[in-house]
Amino acid sequence: MKRLTAYVLLLALLLTGCGGSVDPDEAQESIQVIAMDTAMLITTYGERSPAAAYACEDTIRDLEAKLSRTDPDSEVSRLNAAGGAVLEVGEDLGVLLDAAAYYQFTTGGAFNIAIAPLASAWGFTEDHFRVPSQEEISGLLKLVNGFSLQQTPEGVALGPGQSIDLGAIAKGYAADKIVQVLQEYEVPRANINLGGNVLAYGTRPGGAPWRVGIQDPKRTDEPNAFAGVLELEDSFAVTSGGYQRYFEENGKRYHHILDPATGYPADSGLASVTVVADCGEGSGLSGMMCDALSTALFIMGEETALDFRRNWSGLPFELVLITEDGRVVATGGLADRFTLDESSGYTYEEAAS
Ligand code: AMP
Ligand code: MG
Repeated sequence: MKRLTAYVLLLALLLTGCGGSVDPDEAQESIQVIAMDTAMLITTYGERSPAAAYACEDTIRDLEAKLSRTDPDSEVSRLNAAGGAVLEVGEDLGVLLDAAAYYQFTTGGAFNIAIAPLASAWGFTEDHFRVPSQEEISGLLKLVNGFSLQQTPEGVALGPGQSIDLGAIAKGYAADKIVQVLQEYEVPRANINLGGNVLAYGTRPGGAPWRVGIQDPKRTDEPNAFAGVLELEDSFAVTSGGYQRYFEENGKRYHHILDPATGYPADSGLASVTVVADCGEGSGLSGMMCDALSTALFIMGEETALDFRRNWSGLPFELVLITEDGRVVATGGLADRFTLDESSGYTYEEAAS
Protein backbone atom coordinates (compact mmCIF):
# COMPACT_ATOMS: atom_id res chain seq x y z
CA MET A 1 0.00 0.00 0.00
CA LYS A 2 2.78 2.36 1.03
CA ARG A 3 4.68 1.51 -2.13
CA LEU A 4 1.62 2.28 -4.25
CA THR A 5 1.20 5.70 -2.60
CA ALA A 6 4.84 6.51 -3.28
CA TYR A 7 4.46 5.41 -6.87
CA VAL A 8 1.36 7.55 -7.41
CA LEU A 9 3.12 10.53 -5.82
CA LEU A 10 6.14 10.07 -8.05
CA LEU A 11 3.95 9.80 -11.12
CA ALA A 12 2.10 12.98 -10.14
CA LEU A 13 5.40 14.81 -9.69
CA LEU A 14 6.66 13.66 -13.04
CA LEU A 15 3.43 14.63 -14.79
CA THR A 16 3.19 18.07 -13.23
CA GLY A 17 6.90 18.74 -13.46
CA CYS A 18 6.82 19.97 -9.84
CA GLY A 19 9.00 18.91 -6.96
CA GLY A 20 12.07 20.94 -8.04
CA SER A 21 12.76 18.87 -11.16
CA VAL A 22 14.80 20.68 -13.83
CA ASP A 23 13.13 21.80 -17.04
CA PRO A 24 14.70 19.42 -19.59
CA ASP A 25 15.56 22.44 -21.77
CA GLU A 26 17.65 23.92 -18.98
CA ALA A 27 19.70 20.81 -18.11
CA GLN A 28 23.26 21.79 -18.81
CA GLU A 29 26.68 20.27 -19.50
CA SER A 30 29.91 22.27 -19.68
CA ILE A 31 33.23 20.82 -20.76
CA GLN A 32 36.60 22.38 -21.36
CA VAL A 33 38.58 21.14 -24.34
CA ILE A 34 42.20 21.96 -25.09
CA ALA A 35 42.58 21.57 -28.84
CA MET A 36 43.84 23.48 -31.87
CA ASP A 37 46.27 25.29 -29.56
CA THR A 38 43.32 26.83 -27.71
CA ALA A 39 41.35 26.47 -24.48
CA MET A 40 37.76 25.91 -25.57
CA LEU A 41 34.53 25.86 -23.56
CA ILE A 42 31.51 23.90 -24.70
CA THR A 43 28.21 24.41 -22.91
CA THR A 44 25.17 22.57 -24.16
CA TYR A 45 21.61 22.45 -22.82
CA GLY A 46 18.71 20.05 -23.03
CA GLU A 47 18.03 16.46 -22.08
CA ARG A 48 20.84 15.16 -24.25
CA SER A 49 23.31 17.87 -23.24
CA PRO A 50 26.08 15.57 -21.93
CA ALA A 51 26.11 13.40 -25.07
CA ALA A 52 25.89 16.50 -27.27
CA ALA A 53 28.81 18.23 -25.52
CA TYR A 54 31.03 15.16 -25.93
CA ALA A 55 29.97 14.78 -29.56
CA CYS A 56 31.09 18.41 -30.11
CA GLU A 57 34.44 17.52 -28.53
CA ASP A 58 34.76 14.49 -30.84
CA THR A 59 34.11 16.74 -33.84
CA ILE A 60 36.88 19.13 -32.78
CA ARG A 61 39.37 16.34 -32.07
CA ASP A 62 38.60 14.64 -35.37
CA LEU A 63 39.23 17.89 -37.27
CA GLU A 64 42.39 18.62 -35.30
CA ALA A 65 43.76 15.18 -36.19
CA LYS A 66 43.19 15.95 -39.88
CA LEU A 67 44.17 19.61 -40.03
CA SER A 68 46.95 20.19 -37.51
CA ARG A 69 50.21 21.50 -38.91
CA THR A 70 52.22 20.27 -35.95
CA ASP A 71 50.94 16.68 -35.91
CA PRO A 72 53.08 14.89 -38.53
CA ASP A 73 50.30 12.34 -39.15
CA SER A 74 47.61 14.86 -40.08
CA GLU A 75 46.42 15.15 -43.68
CA VAL A 76 47.70 18.71 -43.80
CA SER A 77 51.18 17.67 -42.61
CA ARG A 78 51.28 14.84 -45.12
CA LEU A 79 50.28 17.23 -47.90
CA ASN A 80 52.92 19.73 -46.78
CA ALA A 81 55.56 16.98 -46.72
CA ALA A 82 54.52 15.43 -50.04
CA GLY A 83 57.07 17.47 -52.02
CA GLY A 84 54.55 18.38 -54.69
CA ALA A 85 53.19 14.83 -55.16
CA VAL A 86 49.45 14.31 -55.60
CA LEU A 87 47.74 13.19 -52.39
CA GLU A 88 44.18 12.03 -51.87
CA VAL A 89 42.37 14.26 -49.37
CA GLY A 90 39.28 13.61 -47.27
CA GLU A 91 36.03 15.56 -47.47
CA ASP A 92 36.82 18.09 -44.72
CA LEU A 93 40.18 19.09 -46.13
CA GLY A 94 38.65 19.20 -49.62
CA VAL A 95 35.96 21.64 -48.45
CA LEU A 96 38.55 23.78 -46.65
CA LEU A 97 40.88 23.94 -49.65
CA ASP A 98 38.04 25.05 -51.92
CA ALA A 99 36.93 27.64 -49.39
CA ALA A 100 40.49 28.90 -48.92
CA ALA A 101 40.84 29.44 -52.67
CA TYR A 102 37.53 31.33 -52.69
CA TYR A 103 38.53 33.61 -49.79
CA GLN A 104 41.99 34.20 -51.24
CA PHE A 105 40.36 35.36 -54.46
CA THR A 106 37.60 37.46 -52.87
CA THR A 107 39.96 39.21 -50.42
CA GLY A 108 42.45 40.11 -53.13
CA GLY A 109 45.10 37.83 -51.62
CA ALA A 110 44.92 39.11 -48.01
CA PHE A 111 43.73 35.66 -46.98
CA ASN A 112 46.29 33.08 -48.05
CA ILE A 113 46.78 29.64 -46.47
CA ALA A 114 50.14 29.32 -48.25
CA ILE A 115 51.40 31.70 -45.54
CA ALA A 116 52.72 28.58 -43.74
CA PRO A 117 56.48 28.89 -44.55
CA LEU A 118 56.39 32.53 -43.51
CA ALA A 119 54.51 31.76 -40.27
CA SER A 120 57.23 29.19 -39.50
CA ALA A 121 60.02 31.65 -40.30
CA TRP A 122 58.55 34.07 -37.75
CA GLY A 123 58.37 31.12 -35.32
CA PHE A 124 54.59 31.32 -34.76
CA THR A 125 53.98 27.69 -35.64
CA GLU A 126 56.70 26.11 -33.55
CA ASP A 127 56.95 28.79 -30.80
CA HIS A 128 60.52 29.74 -31.76
CA PHE A 129 59.87 33.44 -32.23
CA ARG A 130 62.36 35.46 -34.29
CA VAL A 131 62.43 38.33 -36.77
CA PRO A 132 63.54 36.94 -40.14
CA SER A 133 65.82 38.98 -42.39
CA GLN A 134 64.29 40.98 -45.24
CA GLU A 135 66.06 38.65 -47.66
CA GLU A 136 64.49 35.58 -46.08
CA ILE A 137 61.04 37.22 -46.08
CA SER A 138 61.34 38.21 -49.75
CA GLY A 139 62.32 34.66 -50.68
CA LEU A 140 59.40 33.11 -48.77
CA LEU A 141 56.91 35.64 -50.16
CA LYS A 142 57.50 34.18 -53.62
CA LEU A 143 56.17 30.84 -52.32
CA VAL A 144 53.22 32.50 -50.61
CA ASN A 145 52.08 34.66 -53.49
CA GLY A 146 52.88 32.04 -56.09
CA PHE A 147 50.52 29.62 -54.36
CA SER A 148 49.12 27.09 -56.78
CA LEU A 149 47.00 24.15 -55.79
CA GLN A 150 46.78 21.46 -58.39
CA GLN A 151 43.47 19.56 -58.16
CA THR A 152 43.16 16.31 -60.06
CA PRO A 153 40.64 13.44 -59.86
CA GLU A 154 43.30 11.54 -57.84
CA GLY A 155 43.79 14.30 -55.28
CA VAL A 156 45.64 17.56 -54.73
CA ALA A 157 49.24 18.73 -54.91
CA LEU A 158 51.02 21.85 -53.70
CA GLY A 159 53.58 23.70 -55.79
CA PRO A 160 57.30 23.08 -55.11
CA GLY A 161 58.37 24.27 -51.66
CA GLN A 162 54.85 25.37 -50.74
CA SER A 163 52.96 24.45 -47.58
CA ILE A 164 49.62 25.40 -46.07
CA ASP A 165 48.32 26.52 -42.68
CA LEU A 166 44.58 26.40 -41.97
CA GLY A 167 44.86 28.24 -38.64
CA ALA A 168 42.79 31.16 -39.91
CA ILE A 169 39.82 29.08 -40.98
CA ALA A 170 39.79 25.70 -39.17
CA LYS A 171 38.01 26.81 -35.99
CA GLY A 172 35.27 28.51 -37.99
CA TYR A 173 34.76 25.32 -39.94
CA ALA A 174 34.70 23.34 -36.67
CA ALA A 175 31.99 25.72 -35.43
CA ASP A 176 29.92 25.00 -38.56
CA LYS A 177 30.21 21.26 -37.96
CA ILE A 178 29.26 21.79 -34.32
CA VAL A 179 26.01 23.44 -35.45
CA GLN A 180 25.22 20.19 -37.27
CA VAL A 181 25.94 18.18 -34.11
CA LEU A 182 23.70 20.44 -32.02
CA GLN A 183 20.87 20.02 -34.52
CA GLU A 184 21.36 16.25 -34.58
CA TYR A 185 21.13 16.08 -30.78
CA GLU A 186 18.15 18.46 -30.74
CA VAL A 187 19.99 20.81 -28.42
CA PRO A 188 17.75 23.82 -27.72
CA ARG A 189 20.58 26.20 -26.76
CA ALA A 190 24.35 26.17 -26.47
CA ASN A 191 27.29 28.47 -25.99
CA ILE A 192 30.45 27.30 -27.69
CA ASN A 193 33.68 29.24 -27.28
CA LEU A 194 36.48 27.99 -29.47
CA GLY A 195 38.83 30.80 -28.43
CA GLY A 196 38.02 33.87 -30.50
CA ASN A 197 35.32 31.88 -32.31
CA VAL A 198 32.03 32.03 -30.42
CA LEU A 199 28.83 30.26 -31.37
CA ALA A 200 25.78 31.68 -29.58
CA TYR A 201 23.24 28.96 -30.41
CA GLY A 202 19.57 29.62 -29.62
CA THR A 203 19.07 31.96 -26.67
CA ARG A 204 20.03 31.92 -23.01
CA PRO A 205 17.73 29.98 -20.70
CA GLY A 206 14.68 32.20 -20.30
CA GLY A 207 14.87 33.53 -23.85
CA ALA A 208 17.28 36.46 -23.52
CA PRO A 209 20.13 36.69 -26.05
CA TRP A 210 23.59 35.42 -25.19
CA ARG A 211 26.06 38.09 -24.06
CA VAL A 212 29.33 37.83 -25.95
CA GLY A 213 32.14 40.05 -24.70
CA ILE A 214 34.64 41.50 -27.17
CA GLN A 215 38.08 41.41 -25.62
CA ASP A 216 39.71 44.78 -25.03
CA PRO A 217 42.96 44.44 -27.04
CA LYS A 218 44.73 46.83 -24.65
CA ARG A 219 43.87 44.84 -21.49
CA THR A 220 44.63 41.24 -22.42
CA ASP A 221 46.17 40.46 -19.03
CA GLU A 222 42.81 41.11 -17.35
CA PRO A 223 40.27 38.32 -17.76
CA ASN A 224 36.90 39.62 -18.94
CA ALA A 225 38.21 43.08 -19.80
CA PHE A 226 35.85 43.88 -22.64
CA ALA A 227 35.65 46.79 -25.06
CA GLY A 228 31.96 46.00 -25.23
CA VAL A 229 29.35 43.28 -25.26
CA LEU A 230 27.26 41.88 -28.10
CA GLU A 231 23.81 40.45 -27.47
CA LEU A 232 23.40 37.60 -29.90
CA GLU A 233 21.22 34.61 -30.66
CA ASP A 234 21.80 32.01 -33.34
CA SER A 235 25.00 33.73 -34.38
CA PHE A 236 28.70 33.31 -34.85
CA ALA A 237 31.03 36.02 -33.56
CA VAL A 238 34.64 35.54 -34.61
CA THR A 239 37.45 37.83 -33.54
CA SER A 240 40.95 38.20 -35.00
CA GLY A 241 43.43 40.38 -33.20
CA GLY A 242 47.14 41.00 -33.04
CA TYR A 243 46.93 40.65 -29.24
CA GLN A 244 45.99 36.95 -29.52
CA ARG A 245 49.51 35.77 -30.30
CA TYR A 246 52.67 37.86 -30.40
CA PHE A 247 56.23 38.29 -29.22
CA GLU A 248 58.35 41.33 -28.52
CA GLU A 249 61.89 42.04 -29.64
CA ASN A 250 63.84 45.26 -29.05
CA GLY A 251 60.69 46.88 -27.72
CA LYS A 252 58.66 46.12 -30.83
CA ARG A 253 55.66 43.85 -30.94
CA TYR A 254 55.27 41.25 -33.71
CA HIS A 255 51.95 39.40 -34.01
CA HIS A 256 50.76 36.32 -35.88
CA ILE A 257 48.52 37.73 -38.63
CA LEU A 258 50.86 38.18 -41.56
CA ASP A 259 50.23 40.44 -44.51
CA PRO A 260 50.99 38.50 -47.72
CA ALA A 261 51.78 41.83 -49.41
CA THR A 262 54.76 42.51 -47.12
CA GLY A 263 55.55 39.29 -45.25
CA TYR A 264 55.36 41.24 -41.97
CA PRO A 265 52.67 41.26 -39.29
CA ALA A 266 49.76 43.30 -40.64
CA ASP A 267 50.00 46.93 -39.61
CA SER A 268 46.66 48.32 -40.70
CA GLY A 269 45.68 50.44 -37.72
CA LEU A 270 43.26 47.81 -36.44
CA ALA A 271 43.65 46.13 -33.05
CA SER A 272 40.88 43.60 -33.67
CA VAL A 273 38.11 42.66 -36.07
CA THR A 274 34.95 40.80 -35.04
CA VAL A 275 32.75 39.32 -37.75
CA VAL A 276 29.16 38.41 -36.83
CA ALA A 277 26.81 36.30 -38.94
CA ASP A 278 23.74 34.09 -38.54
CA CYS A 279 24.15 30.41 -37.84
CA GLY A 280 20.49 29.58 -38.48
CA GLU A 281 18.92 27.70 -41.35
CA GLY A 282 20.35 28.53 -44.78
CA SER A 283 23.53 30.03 -43.39
CA GLY A 284 25.73 27.25 -44.76
CA LEU A 285 29.36 27.53 -43.75
CA SER A 286 29.03 30.97 -42.21
CA GLY A 287 31.26 30.13 -39.23
CA MET A 288 34.07 29.51 -41.67
CA MET A 289 33.19 32.71 -43.52
CA CYS A 290 33.43 34.72 -40.28
CA ASP A 291 36.80 33.15 -39.49
CA ALA A 292 38.32 33.71 -42.93
CA LEU A 293 37.02 37.28 -43.12
CA SER A 294 38.07 38.30 -39.60
CA THR A 295 41.65 37.44 -40.51
CA ALA A 296 41.55 39.07 -43.95
CA LEU A 297 39.75 42.26 -42.87
CA PHE A 298 42.21 42.70 -40.00
CA ILE A 299 44.94 42.85 -42.65
CA MET A 300 42.96 45.24 -44.89
CA GLY A 301 42.37 47.93 -42.27
CA GLU A 302 39.29 50.00 -41.43
CA GLU A 303 38.39 51.74 -44.69
CA THR A 304 39.12 48.81 -46.98
CA ALA A 305 37.32 46.40 -44.63
CA LEU A 306 34.17 48.56 -44.57
CA ASP A 307 34.29 48.96 -48.37
CA PHE A 308 34.78 45.23 -48.73
CA ARG A 309 31.62 44.63 -46.71
CA ARG A 310 29.60 47.15 -48.73
CA ASN A 311 30.54 45.33 -51.95
CA TRP A 312 30.17 41.81 -50.54
CA SER A 313 27.59 39.66 -52.29
CA GLY A 314 27.93 36.50 -50.17
CA LEU A 315 26.10 35.73 -46.91
CA PRO A 316 25.45 38.91 -44.89
CA PHE A 317 27.73 39.78 -41.99
CA GLU A 318 28.26 42.61 -39.51
CA LEU A 319 31.48 44.01 -38.09
CA VAL A 320 32.95 45.42 -34.92
CA LEU A 321 36.34 47.01 -35.59
CA ILE A 322 38.58 48.17 -32.75
CA THR A 323 41.17 50.64 -33.94
CA GLU A 324 44.65 51.28 -32.56
CA ASP A 325 43.61 54.91 -32.00
CA GLY A 326 40.91 53.97 -29.49
CA ARG A 327 37.68 53.75 -31.49
CA VAL A 328 35.10 50.98 -31.72
CA VAL A 329 33.38 51.05 -35.11
CA ALA A 330 30.31 48.84 -35.60
CA THR A 331 28.18 48.32 -38.68
CA GLY A 332 24.49 49.25 -38.62
CA GLY A 333 23.05 45.77 -38.06
CA LEU A 334 24.71 45.69 -34.63
CA ALA A 335 23.47 49.10 -33.45
CA ASP A 336 20.89 47.53 -31.10
CA ARG A 337 23.08 44.59 -30.18
CA PHE A 338 26.37 46.18 -29.11
CA THR A 339 26.97 47.98 -25.81
CA LEU A 340 30.25 49.76 -25.25
CA ASP A 341 31.95 49.19 -21.91
CA GLU A 342 32.17 52.84 -20.81
CA SER A 343 35.11 52.10 -18.50
CA SER A 344 37.20 50.83 -21.44
CA GLY A 345 37.97 54.36 -22.66
CA TYR A 346 37.01 53.64 -26.27
CA THR A 347 34.71 55.88 -28.24
CA TYR A 348 31.88 54.32 -30.24
CA GLU A 349 31.03 55.04 -33.88
CA GLU A 350 28.52 53.53 -36.23
CA ALA A 351 30.04 52.85 -39.65
CA ALA A 352 28.49 54.67 -42.60
CA SER A 353 26.37 52.17 -44.54
P1 AMP B 1 42.90 34.01 -36.98
O1 AMP B 1 43.13 33.93 -35.50
O2 AMP B 1 41.69 33.28 -37.45
O3 AMP B 1 42.91 35.42 -37.48
O4 AMP B 1 44.07 33.23 -37.70
C1 AMP B 1 45.42 33.56 -37.51
C2 AMP B 1 46.26 32.40 -37.95
O5 AMP B 1 46.12 32.21 -39.35
C3 AMP B 1 47.75 32.61 -37.73
O6 AMP B 1 48.14 32.12 -36.48
C4 AMP B 1 48.37 31.82 -38.89
O7 AMP B 1 48.40 30.45 -38.56
C5 AMP B 1 47.36 32.00 -39.99
N1 AMP B 1 47.60 33.20 -40.84
C6 AMP B 1 48.39 34.27 -40.59
N2 AMP B 1 48.32 35.17 -41.59
C7 AMP B 1 47.43 34.66 -42.49
C8 AMP B 1 46.93 35.12 -43.75
N3 AMP B 1 47.29 36.29 -44.28
N4 AMP B 1 46.04 34.32 -44.39
C9 AMP B 1 45.65 33.12 -43.89
N5 AMP B 1 46.11 32.65 -42.71
C10 AMP B 1 46.97 33.41 -42.01
MG1 MG C 1 40.34 33.62 -38.95
